[in-house]
Amino acid sequence: MGTIVPDLDLVVSEIADEMRARTDRGAVAHYIPELARVDASQFGLAVIDADGNAAVGGDADIPFSIQSISKVFTLTLALGRYGDRLWRRVGREPSGSPFNSIVQLEREQGVPRNPFINAGAIAVTDLILSGHQPREALGEILSFVRFLADDETISIDEAVAASEQRTGFRNAALANYMKSFGVLENPVELTLGVYFHQCAIAMSCKQLAMAGRFLAKSGRNPSTGLQVIQPERARRINAVMLTCGHYDGSGEFAYRVGLPGKSGVGGGIFAVAPGKASIAVWSPGLDAAGNSHLGRIALEALSKRMNWSIFGA
Ligand code: GLN
Repeated sequence: MGTIVPDLDLVVSEIADEMRARTDRGAVAHYIPELARVDASQFGLAVIDADGNAAVGGDADIPFSIQSISKVFTLTLALGRYGDRLWRRVGREPSGSPFNSIVQLEREQGVPRNPFINAGAIAVTDLILSGHQPREALGEILSFVRFLADDETISIDEAVAASEQRTGFRNAALANYMKSFGVLENPVELTLGVYFHQCAIAMSCKQLAMAGRFLAKSGRNPSTGLQVIQPERARRINAVMLTCGHYDGSGEFAYRVGLPGKSGVGGGIFAVAPGKASIAVWSPGLDAAGNSHLGRIALEALSKRMNWSIFGA
């Protein structure tokens, strides 16, 4: 008796239809004015399976602001450059706090809990910036994302970057606070400039799922066959995504979806079904923890119907 393998195309289009019909959408991020203007009724889903087949639904080709999902790419780059020395600068424990919280930093002498909260991501970006001009560091990040996605058209939304640069007072506070402990090497305004621009990279669900394939395939880019990073490193990045990728919503995400994932306040979530698929979903409305409301619900449905939870059937 063989088990019935659900049809991925069908599941993805069913979920896209179900999400389009829902009226509970959460609220778009307001603290970055340019993101507050995004139409909350949009929904996209893209899944690339282990053989490279893409299943897409809804607005899967519309670029959105990837925001904190960029932290997965900068962590990968910084680990490539610094190896395990990176973990001297930033921890890898879940924070249990909001993404822009400052209290924990004081208790822990300016060393951020993990690379996915804002403070940790700013520290990682600071490492990438060291020895470079901001323009070069940003070029390196963007080239890496384009290489991973096999897509030279991916670009930065300058209006979003400028919007955050004007209003990113919290991030400036976090960065200045870390600087006071000597955790940042570069001038705060330069590190923040690179950070705001990496967050403003615009990608569609399809491009994001393409870029994340290496994490679903033990570090290998399946279309080029190139080993982007070692399997052990891919496994570890997935582990940090599982425990820290949704801030103080990480436990709930693991409980409901059962996949490593990383959210952004643009409403995107990137998730990995190890060995099986690279997934990106986008719905701009957020829940109280700043994670996409329908994005999480869609991933819960996908993981359940495809039997993809890493915790078993
Ligand atoms: N650029 C955003 C910020 O720093 C990213 C936060 C997020 O996506 N959770 O506030």
